[in-house]
Amino acid sequence: MTNEEYDQAMQMKSHAPGYWPAEALERWTDHKWQLRNRINSLEAIEKRINLTREERSGILLSGNKLAMSITPHFMNLVDKDDPDCPIRRQVIPRIEETWDDPTELSDPCGEDSHMPVPGLVHRYPDRVLFLVTDLCASYCRYCTRSRVVSGVGEQQLETQYEAIYEYLENTPTVRDVLLSGGDPLLFSTAKLDKILTRLRQIPHIQFVRIGSRIPIFLPQRITQELCDMLKKHHPLFISIHANHPKELTSEVQEGLIRLAEAGIPLGNQSVLLKGVNDDIPTQKALVHKLLMCRVKPYYLYQCDLIEGSSHLRTSVSKGLEIIEGLRGHTTGYAIPQYVIDGPSGGGKIPVNPNYVVKHTDNQVVLRNYEGKEFIYPEPNSAPAFLE
Ligand SMILES: *Cc1c(COP(=O)(O)O)cnc(C)c1O
Repeated sequence: MTNEEYDQAMQMKSHAPGYWPAEALERWTDHKWQLRNRINSLEAIEKRINLTREERSGILLSGNKLAMSITPHFMNLVDKDDPDCPIRRQVIPRIEETWDDPTELSDPCGEDSHMPVPGLVHRYPDRVLFLVTDLCASYCRYCTRSRVVSGVGEQQLETQYEAIYEYLENTPTVRDVLLSGGDPLLFSTAKLDKILTRLRQIPHIQFVRIGSRIPIFLPQRITQELCDMLKKHHPLFISIHANHPKELTSEVQEGLIRLAEAGIPLGNQSVLLKGVNDDIPTQKALVHKLLMCRVKPYYLYQCDLIEGSSHLRTSVSKGLEIIEGLRGHTTGYAIPQYVIDGPSGGGKIPVNPNYVVKHTDNQVVLRNYEGKEFIYPEPNSAPAFLE
């Protein structure tokens, strides 16, 4: 990425009306209009962009596994001609999704075996993942829960709300509830308010957070009304999901700032994806832009071993190289923790470049971001020297 490309990536312009007629601008900010006008057929997409054969076949087969759905807002970020467009690779199916890879799994993080009640994943002692819906505004082609989301896959998500509340009431070790799905912000404000109110009635639940890609796919949903409701339930955090600097448009930034103004701390969870964001300049532009939107990069995930994701997965060395390219080279707040969700249920495992060159009883030999070595003597040890 040249300086010019970096400057371009840092721009936050709106892309409306883009692939829509000028009249659409009147309805553009109405999130219900955005949802009704999602792109979910080959015909609708072919009217707008030039597809490759791989994409056309992928779209025709997507109904068997993970539906295609793209909001007009997000569709406008897709390049018309370039099949390698980083936005396009995230939401437009490709034939590679049907390829078999023996290392892939339908439940890559082993969630189903950690569900005490359908719809509730309890893997860590003090926190739970509450899957409130199986629907999203748009579907990411590398979805870690493609087995249950979008309503066309092999399994149905049958969340048992009352049984979940009862389980939480009877499990005092749980102090943190993470609402996810599917996308919780797809619910009406009133419905989400009811869920949050119910959770807030459980005294040992201290912390509530929501994982959502709505601020990116459908920023029009981040209304003042929604923010006013959310702020009644503090401390409440939101984790968003942006993978590329292009996703952070002016509409997205406005929505994020509205959330931040409601006192909601914001984090970003991104997925390391081949051809989307697996290089240092793209990641740098992404994390810088996130800070401009008042979002702290939280996790960078190695892509899960989800079925049909081989064309989007990149090596762990690449991830380590990216973290190394950020640490020391930019603001500490901008650096996410790189993690691998242990296949079949290991939970999130941090993966870090190694800065400890040597560690003895007396001292640690460290390397800094420039590759220079430094000695830190352990307490009560002889004066430091390079062994
Ligand atoms: C990611 C996740 C959490 C939350 O983990 P944090 O590291 O606290 O963000 C909780 N439960 C499950 C099952 C998860 O996958």
